[in-house]
Amino acid sequence: MNSDGPLTREAHRFAPAASTVRGMEIRCSQCQGFELEPGFVEDSGDHSRGYARWIPGPLQRGIFGGAKRLGRPRFQIDAYRCRACGHLELFAPHQV
Ligand SMILES: [Zn+2]
Repeated sequence: MNSDGPLTREAHRFAPAASTVRGMEIRCSQCQGFELEPGFVEDSGDHSRGYARWIPGPLQRGIFGGAKRLGRPRFQIDAYRCRACGHLELFAPHQV
C-alpha cells in the first residue's frame, strides 16, 4: 500500500488555508501569504448590478465624461483579500 506518496503529501501540506483559482493555489503577490479570502468588488452606483466588472481595452470617455463601453464584453471580477496585508488579488475568469 502506498498511501503516502508525493501527491498525497503535497495535498496535505497546502490543504488548510490556501484559496484556489482553477485548481491553482494562489498567494499574495505582495507578502507571499497563503490566506486569501474570496470576495468581490462592489459597485453601488445607480443602475449597477452590485458588482464591478472588467472590460477589455483602454478606457475611452464620451462627451459627458462617462466610459464608452457599448458592445464590449464584460467579465466578473473575483477579488481575493490577503488576511495578512490586505492586498487584493483580482481575477476575471467569467464573462457575464
Ligand atoms: Zn499579503
